[in-house]
Amino acid sequence: VSTITSKDEQHHACEVFRVVSGRWRENCYIVVSRPSRHGVIIDPGSSVEEIGQILHAHGVKTLAILLTHAHYDHVEGVAALREKTQARVYLHQEDLPLLRNVNTYALAWKLPPLRAFVPDALLAQDETLNFADLEVVVLHLPGHSPGSVAYAIGQMLFVGDTILPHAVGRVDLIGGNAKALDTSVKKIVPWLSDQTTLFPGHGDPCDVPSIVAANEKVRSAFLEARAGEQIPTDHWAWSLRAG
Ligand SMILES: [Zn+2]
Ligand SMILES: [Zn+2]
Repeated sequence: VSTITSKDEQHHACEVFRVVSGRWRENCYIVVSRPSRHGVIIDPGSSVEEIGQILHAHGVKTLAILLTHAHYDHVEGVAALREKTQARVYLHQEDLPLLRNVNTYALAWKLPPLRAFVPDALLAQDETLNFADLEVVVLHLPGHSPGSVAYAIGQMLFVGDTILPHAVGRVDLIGGNAKALDTSVKKIVPWLSDQTTLFPGHGDPCDVPSIVAANEKVRSAFLEARAGEQIPTDHWAWSLRAG
């Protein structure tokens, strides 16, 4: 488990815990409001016990389980955690077919079957969700899967497998779409500022300068948007410094 500390005020209002699990080292994040102790769990993987210990140790009142998409490793712990916390489960409706077939894919990957669950709420568009004092903006980002989304909480961006530290998500799995993914990467660029921290589905959380330096797809989308002057001024300041 690692606690992540970040730099802006909205970050300071939240605590983020990361639990890595499984063959693909999937990241589950637990985001907790410091003042209210209300929290959301993003993509619970297989380490349900560890997640439960964090919730208990830090007095977290879990209000929602937010799924960035329905791939096996991101939903492994959902059924057990929902039972434990009574939290509502959110998934974009376009990933429902993936979820329904998750055990067919599990078989193909020689993974144990998952306990089935049905989401409590289906996301259909970009929208804002409020969980007590936590405001979560949903961005639909198809490409890695049809119903992939990012969740923005303050300056924290939980991007699932749409953007990884050194690449974008794979598109060769069922429902993957390279063209849609390109569009989604462009859609995310205006959300990237000096204060943003990206929390990917795999690999370490990172800031915008390091992801632009390390990730060719994000860099070219970033530069293209800058050329079109669609980026707010703090991005300009950053790109000047980065040279
Ligand atoms: Zn995935
Ligand atoms: Zn993944």
